[in-house]
Amino acid sequence: MTRSVASALALVLLTLTACGEPETSARAPAEPVVDSQATGVKVLLVGIDGATFSVIDPLLEAGELPTLGGLIGDGARGVLRSDRPMRSPALWTTVSTGRDREQHGIAHFTEDDGEGGEPVLANSTMRRSLNLWDMLGAAGRTVGIVGWWATWPAEPVRGWLVSDRMTRSRWSEWADGVKQEGLTYPAELADELLPLIVDPLDPPLDEIREIIDLDEGDEAELLAAQRPVRAHGPSVLKFALSTQITYERITDHMLARAETEGGRPDFTAVFLIANDAISHTYWHYHEPESFERLDPDRLARLGPVVANVYRRNDAYLARLLEGADDSTVTIVISDHGFKASGKLPTPGAKRRLREAFSGDFAHADDTFDNVTVGQSGVHHPAGIFIAGGGPIRPGATTEATLFDLTPTLLALMGLPVAEDLPGRVLTEILEPEFLERFPIRTVPTYERIINRKALLAGADAENDESTMEMLRSLGYIQ
Ligand SMILES: [Zn+2]
Repeated sequence: MTRSVASALALVLLTLTACGEPETSARAPAEPVVDSQATGVKVLLVGIDGATFSVIDPLLEAGELPTLGGLIGDGARGVLRSDRPMRSPALWTTVSTGRDREQHGIAHFTEDDGEGGEPVLANSTMRRSLNLWDMLGAAGRTVGIVGWWATWPAEPVRGWLVSDRMTRSRWSEWADGVKQEGLTYPAELADELLPLIVDPLDPPLDEIREIIDLDEGDEAELLAAQRPVRAHGPSVLKFALSTQITYERITDHMLARAETEGGRPDFTAVFLIANDAISHTYWHYHEPESFERLDPDRLARLGPVVANVYRRNDAYLARLLEGADDSTVTIVISDHGFKASGKLPTPGAKRRLREAFSGDFAHADDTFDNVTVGQSGVHHPAGIFIAGGGPIRPGATTEATLFDLTPTLLALMGLPVAEDLPGRVLTEILEPEFLERFPIRTVPTYERIINRKALLAGADAENDESTMEMLRSLGYIQ
């Protein structure tokens, strides 16, 4: 197929950048600008921050994590090598763009606002590359994105996108907060989702107790925390789990709605954060042999906390898979793994802690004696890659990098792979018949086919009508 990508609309998009004056939108055809093959594959991509095989494998051996076990049993697995420095916004954006941080522009958790104000959390205006879902949309594929790093403010997609700034998360609290505008695409979706948001100051204790066996002191500490304190277990657990439950509920809601409206999107991506926060702060109970002087009573009680997050994620994955059809490829990945730091959390600076707590807790000095702060778990470069369903070859193994996700997903969904992406299609995990039927095609780049500026203009109600018309014809806006 030589005419891999061509259309008059692509020319219109290019013309827009070239001279600033939009050409007539009458030339815009209603068909997608990217020519793709109909592989019939839908993809469910589940990102679990910090998931690691050193936790998963012993649980699988014990007959736990039935959903992940089932996926691996019928599918493929391998280590997903991370990219240093291992900062989640940079890594998850590498997954979704196929590019390194120098190219895509999201390098840090926060950046200065340049005016001496609060640090600004990594956001979509800092991104310089197209996301995978921009490419899929241009090929006529529908997408649904939930909670992915640095997706606020929400940009137009062919489908829906719920940004990462819906709720009070660990990171929004440490930077520029929850947002009121730009939460979702389409914008009016936000109102429908607001009732699903979990307030960390009114935390879902039943669900928290399924993860952690709180004694009276732990519970008081967890409830009194008004803000997440860096490297402080109960407060980051509360905020991170509230964030994750919010996005789980939103995903459930959006997928249930999609199923009544003709089916799930061609591509669904969901991001789960709680594992990272809990692995940082509770790892000493998970891997006590790497630490000295652990309290035996606390170890007995808190030993299962990290594994419990994996159990919870596995159960949630089962829920996600319930409504998926046979053509769905499910891919579960992490941005990095975890390992022991060897350093136990220690009593934290009382003043810093006191500022974050409310009520009696903040006023009684001796209550702080048991409050510890520190990262017993730290990032490790070996993340996870697990895939199953559709044309994924059972029993396949792979050695992948974060850069390989975008090329592999493009190939699975029948889109040409861009030659300017450093990663590769993980052909070893695909059935040979699939590759014969849908040979991998390439294009030099997507960055010249899809005009991101024009795409962004669609988020602004006041933009030029011909731009709006063009985006409408593309299917990016309604
Ligand atoms: Zn982390």
